[in-house]
Amino acid sequence: MQTQTLIIATGAGHRHLGLESEHQLENKGVTYCATCDGALPMFRNQPLVVVGGGDSACEEALYLTRFGSVVYLIHRRDSLRASKIMSDRVLAHAKIKPVWDSVVTEVLDVKQDKVTGVRVKNLKTNAESVVDCSGVFVAIGHVPNTDVFKEVIDRDEAGYIVPRKGAATNIPGVFVAGDCADRVYRQAITAAGMGCAAAIEAERFLESLNQ
Ligand SMILES: Cc1cc2nc3c(=O)[nH]c(=O)nc-3n(C[C@H](O)[C@H](O)[C@H](O)COP(=O)(O)OP(=O)(O)OC[C@H]3O[C@@H](n4cnc5c(N)ncnc54)[C@H](O)[C@@H]3O)c2cc1C
Repeated sequence: MQTQTLIIATGAGHRHLGLESEHQLENKGVTYCATCDGALPMFRNQPLVVVGGGDSACEEALYLTRFGSVVYLIHRRDSLRASKIMSDRVLAHAKIKPVWDSVVTEVLDVKQDKVTGVRVKNLKTNAESVVDCSGVFVAIGHVPNTDVFKEVIDRDEAGYIVPRKGAATNIPGVFVAGDCADRVYRQAITAAGMGCAAAIEAERFLESLNQ
């Protein structure tokens, strides 16, 4: 198929923990977006878990303190990967309880068909424990769906397409919109706005070919 212009809008996927129980309880208490789901009634005044230790996980944990009774931040290392200012804010927050050196090995409880807690393993001692919670927010990163464009379209080190001047890419006539070029917001409304900008750019590009 031949075309004179193209808008890339292939989105980004969430990194998963890779647990069967995580998959089975997705949308039943397991979620990948605090901004999208944090205010749901099922999470109000309940203990919540955030998995991760980067800026995104810290942002999610801080946001969730508005809704949850307590927010456990489960991280596999003994310090946060997030920026110092973000780490300091998180560690100073009375509602956030870090769980260091630990990984989630199972989301409970598949039998009840809802989240009631997580089984956690301490990587230093191998001790297992259960953290009771009603929601698990997995914040271990996103993967932009851009591999198909590698070596053709400019991407950053994480694989996000790097726009040049608005929605343009390094290839004339190829434009980009949405989560595949947005490592910050990744929201429907921002993706829609970027799509609108890319469409305007593509139309202008086609007009320029006819002059
Ligand atoms: C559970 C959940 C809840 C959310 N809730 C909200 C919310 O409440 N508010 C909000 O603003 N945002 C929310 N979001 C985020 C929002 O959905 C995204 O920011 C938005 O959909 C991004 O739009 P996009 O067009 O960039 O990508 P997407 O909507 O992800 O679309 C990308 C499309 O490209 C296709 N594709 C991928 N690779 C290829 C390929 N190689 N060839 C052809 N097609 C391909 C995919 O199949 C998909 O159809 C939520 C996201 C999730 C997962």
